[in-house]
Amino acid sequence: MSKTASFDCIIIGAGPGGLQAAIHLARFNRRVLLLHRPGGRTAHARHIENFLGLPIVSGAELISIGLRQAEHFGVAVLRRQAIQVEVREGFAVEADEDMYHAPYVIAASGATENLPKIANLGRHFARNFHTCFICDGFRTMGKKTLVMGNSINSVRVSFAIQRLFSKDVSLLCVDFTMGEEDGELLKEEGIGVYQGVPHKLIGEKELEGVALSDGRIIPCQAIMAGFGMTPNDDYLKNLDLKRDAVGIHLITGSDCETSVSGLFALGALAEGHSQAIITAGQGAMAAIEINQRLLQL
Ligand SMILES: Cc1cc2nc3c(=O)[nH]c(=O)nc-3n(C[C@H](O)[C@H](O)[C@H](O)COP(=O)(O)OP(=O)(O)OC[C@H]3O[C@@H](n4cnc5c(N)ncnc54)[C@H](O)[C@@H]3O)c2cc1C
Repeated sequence: MSKTASFDCIIIGAGPGGLQAAIHLARFNRRVLLLHRPGGRTAHARHIENFLGLPIVSGAELISIGLRQAEHFGVAVLRRQAIQVEVREGFAVEADEDMYHAPYVIAASGATENLPKIANLGRHFARNFHTCFICDGFRTMGKKTLVMGNSINSVRVSFAIQRLFSKDVSLLCVDFTMGEEDGELLKEEGIGVYQGVPHKLIGEKELEGVALSDGRIIPCQAIMAGFGMTPNDDYLKNLDLKRDAVGIHLITGSDCETSVSGLFALGALAEGHSQAIITAGQGAMAAIEINQRLLQL
């Protein structure tokens, strides 16, 4: 039997963005529903050490502390996935069989990493195999590092790692050929370039190298991979939302509101750097704006 229920705000996704928004709104005594499909990028981060006040914390720990904090202030947390959002006297949000209504919705459902199929990846992901230069470039310090990716961005990341963290950097171009000029620059800097398809990560506890599908092996101790991300926003697909030039990120104002009035979006769904502390700040901003509008002051 399906149910309906009304709230002041429905938040989709319990990452740092959704949780921070929930905590702020609940502390304004607002009725908040937080739809939480466990998992996501933060949940996979093994060690976050650039979040103010938490010298080192795993993503899973950050989320579990945040969920407790949100529930302490009365947020209704439902372990359900949002299926669809419709504009209907405010918003109607479908999750499983049930419909929930609110004048405001915050989409904070993050994105999923696009990764090639590589054997043994689970063992090394977020340990020696990284996907975010801002988050984990620091972890390549002094290590024989292989950058891999399918776009020109990998060239930039290779230079950046070489300047900041490790002199021993190589680049594996996957389904992408760089311009001659970039090739020359990389050569001048001593960055080796490979073309190929990664097949398997070699090494048990420590990473020893990458086997390519043609049998070659590239030795390395750390990998910085960049294959982009796909936003988790299927539930918004029927709304006419403005997106960036490549049609991926939602265009939002400084308060995180999208082109649909009352619908806010943050974190990896919107433009900008996807960092836990930035996303949390966006969550706070969206929540404060929503509270002001509810007050109609
Ligand atoms: C390996 C790794 C290491 C990282 N390290 C750092 C770091 O050191 N410092 C840092 O600042 N950042 C780090 N990040 C980035 C950080 O995790 C992101 O900036 C952060 O995830 C953005 O938060 P978010 O709330 O937008 O999304 P997420 O954390 O991805 O949370 C979104 C949540 O929404 C859920 N969801 C998705 N779809 C739905 C739906 N339809 N209904 C309900 N729920 C849904 C997801 O399952 C997830 O729980 C790291 C990321 C990775 C992958």
